[in-house]
Amino acid sequence: MPPTILIVEDNDSNMKLFRDVLSAHGYDAACAESGARALEMVREVDPALIVLDVQLPDVSGLDVTRWIRADPALRHVPILAVTAFAMKGDAERILAAGCDAYLAKPIGIDRFMAAVEKHLRVAAPVIPLVT
Ligand code: MN
Repeated sequence: MPPTILIVEDNDSNMKLFRDVLSAHGYDAACAESGARALEMVREVDPALIVLDVQLPDVSGLDVTRWIRADPALRHVPILAVTAFAMKGDAERILAAGCDAYLAKPIGIDRFMAAVEKHLRVAAPVIPLVT
């Protein structure tokens, strides 16, 4: 089964771009358009990675990150933030909130996929028993 990546993004064209790129690379994409929906879906789908827009309509993506990191059942999920902010101090704020990495918009597909594959949570490999 391909890994599921949860995309949290309120902009339709960005959501479509992320979904299409991830699907083309063989991932299952789950979509949430708000922070509240993201918190429901992260429990439902146990994603291997969250692609998280920082500017959401209801709450900040950084608050979503803090809630996920405060929950022992969810805190292991890697978070790749995407943001239109690229001002001094934003990178520090994003990483301090608990995101694993961030990319500034506009997102280049090569950099995006490299970041996804770098941070994706992989299942522990099955080590063959040597007898
Ligand atoms: Mn947004």
